[in-house]
Amino acid sequence: MEILKVKGNTYCIDTGMTYIPFYKINDEEIIMLDTGWKNGEREGIEEVLERNNFKVRAILNSHAHIDHIGNNTYLKNKYNCIIAMAAYEANICSSEVNLKVFYGSQTLKEVKEHFGHMVCKTDISIAEDQDNVSICGVNFKILHTPGHSPAHICIITPDDVAYMGDALISYEVMKGAKMPYAYILSEDMKSKAKLYDLNYSKYVVAHKGMYDDIKKLISDNIDFYESRAMRVYEAIDEAMTIEDIMKVVIKRFHIRINDVYKYYVIERMLKSYVDYLYEIEKLNLIMEDGFLKYIKNEN
Ligand SMILES: [Zn+2]
Repeated sequence: MEILKVKGNTYCIDTGMTYIPFYKINDEEIIMLDTGWKNGEREGIEEVLERNNFKVRAILNSHAHIDHIGNNTYLKNKYNCIIAMAAYEANICSSEVNLKVFYGSQTLKEVKEHFGHMVCKTDISIAEDQDNVSICGVNFKILHTPGHSPAHICIITPDDVAYMGDALISYEVMKGAKMPYAYILSEDMKSKAKLYDLNYSKYVVAHKGMYDDIKKLISDNIDFYESRAMRVYEAIDEAMTIEDIMKVVIKRFHIRINDVYKYYVIERMLKSYVDYLYEIEKLNLIMEDGFLKYIKNEN
């Protein structure tokens, strides 16, 4: 893994899959914006921190997904650092039971196995109406971009660098993504549209890119998610249950599901696209033989 300079005191760790930005308080002390995956990234991140003699003083998270908070508790224990994130995200990862509330379709046993390491204690909760936060004397601007996760935030460092987290995805990810994830796609689309107003020096997208201007990327993201939703829509040719839709979609999108965990992931992703199609009135809900079915809205 290597360190890239973004601007001023803002840098990022390139893990290969992800950019993890950090802000240098001084030569030794840093504030990390997200902490990456446990599996596959922890060792490399630790090695890079140690090689540079960095002490992590704080972690400021964009959202509480497994690939963004995977090393929160580990680093908190190691460096005795503080953790800051949006209040609702902090609540989700505050206990295994709260994770179970969020990952509702999975059993508690599986939640503990797959997500147990995500449990962390947040020291600074960022409220919905809060537009900046001071951490170790450094002031970060906060832009609330719900949708990808319930209380996702973008973070702007004092160097005028905006960390977008997963509010946008890069062209590289778009090339490979079959159904990119959004918790509430309609809200995510609104948040993406809000980004047109931004005017910062640099933008860092977690998976994975660095840009001086993001206007085209925003439009291309919106078109991409929209086109994925339309492909799901095209798969619905009669009144179908969510499982019926899933059967057709995994075939059409060439998605291979070979374990229970992958099944849950795909089910969650598909549901957000189906919900979106309902929100934009492309689909109707009906009851048939006691089952909830989705049908195209022909009006
Ligand atoms: Zn995410």
